[in-house]
Amino acid sequence: MSVLRASIAPALLAALVIGAGGYYLAGRGQGPIIDIVQPQKLLGRAGTLAVTIDTPEGQLGSATISLEQGGASQQLFVLGPSAEATVTQESPSRIRITRPIGKESAPALEAGPATIVVTATRSVFFGLRTIESRERRDLIVRLEPPRVAIVSTHHFVNHGGAEFAVYRVTPPDVESGVQVGDERYPGYPAGGIPGAGLASDPSLRVAFFALLPEQDLGTPISLYARDEAGNEGTGSFDFRVFPRLFTRSRIEVDDRFLARVVPAIARSTPELGLGTPEGDDLVPAFLKINGELRRMNAETIRGLAAKTAPEVLWRGAFQQLGSSQVESMFADHRTYFYRGQEIDQQVHLGFDLAVTANVPVKAANSGTVVFAGELGIYGQTVVIDHGMGVQSLYAHLSSIDVAVADRVEKGHVLGRSGMTGLAGGDHLHFTMLVHGRAVNPVEWWDAHWIDDRVTRKLREASGAAGPSTRP
Ligand SMILES: [Zn+2]
Repeated sequence: MSVLRASIAPALLAALVIGAGGYYLAGRGQGPIIDIVQPQKLLGRAGTLAVTIDTPEGQLGSATISLEQGGASQQLFVLGPSAEATVTQESPSRIRITRPIGKESAPALEAGPATIVVTATRSVFFGLRTIESRERRDLIVRLEPPRVAIVSTHHFVNHGGAEFAVYRVTPPDVESGVQVGDERYPGYPAGGIPGAGLASDPSLRVAFFALLPEQDLGTPISLYARDEAGNEGTGSFDFRVFPRLFTRSRIEVDDRFLARVVPAIARSTPELGLGTPEGDDLVPAFLKINGELRRMNAETIRGLAAKTAPEVLWRGAFQQLGSSQVESMFADHRTYFYRGQEIDQQVHLGFDLAVTANVPVKAANSGTVVFAGELGIYGQTVVIDHGMGVQSLYAHLSSIDVAVADRVEKGHVLGRSGMTGLAGGDHLHFTMLVHGRAVNPVEWWDAHWIDDRVTRKLREASGAAGPSTRP
């Protein structure tokens, strides 16, 4: 017996040592990689929990997610069939777990701190050992919707025009603005208006908004505020809407016009897939340009709103192109005819201003160039950002003298007028934009309008916001 033991013992010992080493090394391997994608900071009434678990070095053994608050723990997820959670396989080794999270799905939740804990394991060493990963996310449960209340008075909205509101939002770190029907116009800290004396109150916000020509006169307008947890607050305010008569006009499209504009636009916009249209292809190509390209260009213009500065860069009334003749009114409803047949209808969102050919086109107000180049139906185009979502657009230019990121003062020459893009002759197509939507520029050319709609409200707000010296 002792002989046998003596001969076996070293081998057994070696096996045990190797086994223990393997067991030990396996335990030092890579555990599942957990990422709590959302929520990041706040939890509210109704939100979404999203967690990914990646196990590149083997199979996921178990996964649990729980929500801890005040010493109590509530299980949100355990790997296996689940009614509330959705599990999707994102890659051969990674799953994504999503489910509702918040007061509605966890009624015991109370305002204050809470923690999400995610645990995941994978088994190693022939299933004898597991490696566990754990990830925590500390959150604040906020169940109160943000509050938003109007400060400014007398809001007059012209159909197709813009307006301005001063309001207060608490807590100040939430997203807020003015909602007009389905359109949202974000607000900015009032301290971003130089000289308005509103910088001392962090809860004061200002927002430019508009009632678009295609929106109904009865479209609801209100303030909104929304926090990261999905809590939403709204605030109503008094406003009056004034109807405007939009003009209608008839545009004759002839072969000469088509032969000049259609091939040029087809060349500069290869993404439309028009090739080199000629002859009978010109009318269908024109319709695609007038419809699809017009919509694509509107999207590009909308996208420029994201580049707006959070402070006001302009001062006083905007300048109209010097001694220009207004050729077309804002939101003119146009019906297009070719050889006596109606072929299309579009709304013209801008002003056409004509002087003579190749006149210098000047910045209507101070700001920063956010677009300078070819823009489909608009041809050679410049867009200037004036801050807080207000921008101006200059189209059909024959040449451009500025570049993106240039700071320009009111009156700075941007380029020369022309007839590039979808233009029947040399003219400047000009429009004002509020958060990427075209609005009637007439208001912005009018110093009285600016004083009544903007400056008056800032004056009144600074009187209300400043430290009171009255007894
Ligand atoms: Zn135009």
